[in-house]
Amino acid sequence: MTLTIAIDGPAGSGKSSVSKEAARRLSYGYLDTGAAYRALAWHTLARGADTADEAAVIDAACDFPYAISLDPDDYWVRVGDTDVTSAIREPRVSAAVSGVARVGAVRERVNELFRALVRHSGRPGVIVEGRDITTVVAPHAPVRILLTAAPEVRAARRSAELTGEDAAAVASALHRRDAADSQVVDFLTAAPGVSVVDSTDLDFEQTVAAVLLVVARATAPTTQENHDGR
Ligand code: C5P
Repeated sequence: MTLTIAIDGPAGSGKSSVSKEAARRLSYGYLDTGAAYRALAWHTLARGADTADEAAVIDAACDFPYAISLDPDDYWVRVGDTDVTSAIREPRVSAAVSGVARVGAVRERVNELFRALVRHSGRPGVIVEGRDITTVVAPHAPVRILLTAAPEVRAARRSAELTGEDAAAVASALHRRDAADSQVVDFLTAAPGVSVVDSTDLDFEQTVAAVLLVVARATAPTTQENHDGR
């Protein structure tokens, strides 16, 4: 059985880079679930449709040859023969993705896909990151983490990533996307049993260490018993 580590959080919390690095260190797979929503938004736009049009999104989802790598050292996303790894990060796709994410039928379909990707990963474990992993996709995962950060810190990190973009425009696009997404999934509050890692005052290395500590504690329940027994 593959061990699932579920990590949720908003954009700019460091979720993707931290999850990827933690997976590398654990020799686990890394599954970026946001990529599926982004790729479907890209695919809907490529068909000349608008992601605000629910029927068009459902149509696009019915003909969606999606593939993603779970290897943290060789990350790629494809739709058919097209490598969309970079294209799905473009601001036009980020601006369109919430339209895709609010379609219930799409969510059900991609959630099944995520579970199958974990089952067939061939790895001892997979870190699955997104918005509803701790609550919907893998609510029984042995490790569930909500990675948060103050909104201004998230906006600053995101604009540092997107060089060439205007910082104020990046911050307002991020807040708009958060507001739209939070109507679909509450990714700002930890569900019962979910550990919170707040990265506001942590650098990248410290955040990875904090996540690995939660994982170590949750996956080594016998350590304390061993100490006690000695
Ligand atoms: O994580 P990322 O920013 O790449 O996610 C892109 C979008 O995909 C989010 O803004 C959200 O609309 C959607 N998403 C989601 N549920 C997930 C992961 C992402 O609704 N588990």
